[in-house]
This record gives sequence, structure tokens and C-alpha cells, in this order.
Amino acid sequence: MHDSSTLFAPASGFGRAAIAVIRISGPAAAGVLVALAGTLPTPRRLSLRTLRDPADGMMLDKGMVAWMPGPDTVTGEDMAELHLHGGVAVRAGVIRALTAFPGCRAAEAGAFTRRAVLNGRMDLTEAEGVADLIEADTEAQRLQALRQLDGALGRQVAAWREEAIDCLAATEAALDFADEGDIDDAVLDRAVLARAARLRTAISAALADGRRGERLREGFQVVLAGPPNAGKSTLLNAISRRDAAIVSPVPGTTRDAIEVRLDLGGLPVMLVDTAGLRETSDPVEAEGIARTRRRMAEADLVLMLVPPGAASEEVSGTSRVLCVRTKADLDAAPGADLAVSALTGQGLLLLLDAITAEAEVALGGGDALVTRERHRDALERCVAHLDRLPAATGMPELVAEDLRLAVRALGEVGGQVGIEEVLDRLFSGFCIGK
Ligand code: GDP
Repeated sequence: MHDSSTLFAPASGFGRAAIAVIRISGPAAAGVLVALAGTLPTPRRLSLRTLRDPADGMMLDKGMVAWMPGPDTVTGEDMAELHLHGGVAVRAGVIRALTAFPGCRAAEAGAFTRRAVLNGRMDLTEAEGVADLIEADTEAQRLQALRQLDGALGRQVAAWREEAIDCLAATEAALDFADEGDIDDAVLDRAVLARAARLRTAISAALADGRRGERLREGFQVVLAGPPNAGKSTLLNAISRRDAAIVSPVPGTTRDAIEVRLDLGGLPVMLVDTAGLRETSDPVEAEGIARTRRRMAEADLVLMLVPPGAASEEVSGTSRVLCVRTKADLDAAPGADLAVSALTGQGLLLLLDAITAEAEVALGGGDALVTRERHRDALERCVAHLDRLPAATGMPELVAEDLRLAVRALGEVGGQVGIEEVLDRLFSGFCIGK
């Protein structure tokens, strides 16, 4: 399973830029650096070098290089960095030379972080933090990602896992000595069960967070709903100041949901324009409306847009609903939470304030530990196993089995258990060079 190839990848994106950084990690890092730059530079210091193609001695670039011997590197392997001039041809030439070097190959997305995890330099939650930090669009997302990258979740779950392992060890010791009759099963059970109950309470408390962490990662979902021609697309455009949605006076043109990401006071908000709600015989539009109803049911907040002369619609489901009168320039608008005009801008700031306030209620309220469904699922399974313990009192074999499964579920969070499949999924969404 161990991959001993030396990886390289541009770490600074693919366009034209002032500087392009190429990262190299693996056993051939020193060899390839010497081949390109002449001699091995002082470790962990930038050195100015002329880089030459080992194949023909032709000059590739003049730039800074860094040499970082393992294992005290981010991947745990020998690493080198080439800081090139950020031109497309410069980078292509160096990549060509690296590709030709024995033992070197281009890294796939997330390959460096994957090696960091497999070499024990970070756990899975910290790797997810790296991914989230790169994805972070807003301040609140950035801070959450940094906390996770810094180990907040990983350390907590590791501590819970240690506690569960201690409980398991005590139970297994009781099993081993059961024949000798010098440990009273019931007494031991009570002590273990009390500890397990405290562990269960702590994990449950972390889970009872209103999915703040997941929602912060995904963005607070706001769905624009209302009949065709209510002014949904125009309002979305006015808010995003982008031509993201098709605006047309013909009803039923917005068939697919259109999403616009907003940063409202550091909170990520996803504004979704949907197909208008009305009875229709057009199957394509009917599908769009079915999707609208699904999006509305899943939304954190529904903005029910009501044009002049229309009555506001009932919204079923559990989403919060804010009723918004549109086209307020045409009509004085009684009875709505808010009245807006996309044409004149009236009410738009109040509407954004209202959305921000809703997002603050949903996403604010303290730092969340759990930031992915994956964490929640594993922790919920752990709690479910701990919940079964009291019924197994006096049956240490059963207690041990549920504790073992609880330990296992906790191990999935940090990647001590079942790491490969999670890695494949996580790193498929990563950047090249990370
Ligand atoms: P949607 O079907 O709900 O997405 O509605 P549209 O955004 O396509 O708007 C329908 C029509 O109403 C278009 O002709 C818009 O120009 C018009 N409209 C939208 N917002 C306003 C507004 O604030 N004031 C006025 N006077 N017209 C608007």
C-alpha cells in the first residue's frame, strides 16, 4: 500500500502570477533538487539558485529554492520547494524536467495532505480543517476551519476515545479475572457504567449544537420562493449585484435553482432562486417546482415573496419564513414583514439585515466542534453503543462488545479506524499541490 514515489505539484495555482511555487515531497526530493539547483542548500532557508534541466543543462529559471529534510515536515517526508517566476512556460519547463526525473510523478489533488495523514503528521479532522480553510469564503468559516486545523475536534475526540478505551480495558480485565472470583462483576460494572454515562453526556452535549458547524461550512440556506413574476430573479440580482439569474417577464423561465453566495457580516449565506410556484402542465416546469418545494423544506430560511395584489402563500415544513412584499415602488404594502423594491433599492438593506439576524441565530452561539455529517454520524453511533450499556449490567461480555464498538466509532472521526475510504472521499475535493 505504501507509495514511495516522490510527488511534485504546483502549489500556487495554474494561472500567470508573480511567483509560482512547486512543492516536491518524497525520497527523491534531495536528488531532484541537486539535479536542478546544483547543490543541496542549507535546510529551511531560501537560497537563490539557477535551475537547469538535468537532461541537457539548459537554464530553466533563476529563483529561490528551499530544502526541508524529513521527518519534521508537513508530509513527514523530505521536501523541497521551488519558487519560480510565475509564467506559464517557466512552470511548464520545470514540470517537464521533474516528470522526467526517476521516481518523480505529478501529485493528484490532496496528495501532500494525504501523506501527512498517513505519516501521522496530522489526523483526519486536521486534514479536513486544511480543506475547509482553503474553501473558506467568510471570516466565520475561516475561524472554524482554523480551530479544526489546530486540532480542537481531533483532541477532544481523542480524549473521549481514551476514556472509552479505559472503560473497555477495565471491563476486559474483569473478564480475564472472572474465574478467579476476586473482582465483583457488579461493582466493576457500576464504576465503568458511571464513567461511560459521563462520556455519553459529554458527547451528546457536543452533538446538541443545532448543526451550527455543518451549517457554517455549507452556508446558511435562504430560498427565494413565491409565484412566477413575484420578482425573485430581479431581487436576487439586486442583492448580488450580479447577473446570475435570468430576468424575464415571461412566467416560468427560472426552472433551475440559481445560487448566489453572500458574505453577510462574516457569515456565509447561500441565496437560492427557485422556479416559481404555480400549477402547471409542463413536465419540465413541474419538476422545477417539485425541486423548489424540496429546497424550501431543507432551507434554513424561506423568503416568501409576495407581489402587489397577491396574497401570501402558506409554507409547510419547519423552515423559518419571512414574508417579503416585492415591487414596493408600485404599491403600498401592508401586512408584510418587509417591503422591498429591486428597482429603487427600497428595503434591500433592511432585508439583508433581517437575513443576517436569522443567520446569526442559526450559526452563532459559540464554537461548534462537529463540522461534518461524517463526525456527527460516528459520534451518534458511539452514543448509541454507550446507551446500550446499562441494559448489559452484570454481563461484562456485552458491556465490552458495546464499548469496543464505541471506541471504534470514535476512532473513525480522527482516522484511527477506516481511514482509506474517508481519505479517498476527502481528497477527491482537494486542490492540486495541497
Ligand atoms: P420571478 O419570476 O419571480 O423571478 O420574477 P422576475 O424577477 O423575473 O420579475 C418579473 C417582472 O417583474 C419583471 O418584468 C421585472 O422587471 C419586474 N420586477 C421585478 N422586481 C421589480 C420591482 O421591484 N419593481 C418593479 N416595478 N418591477 C419589478
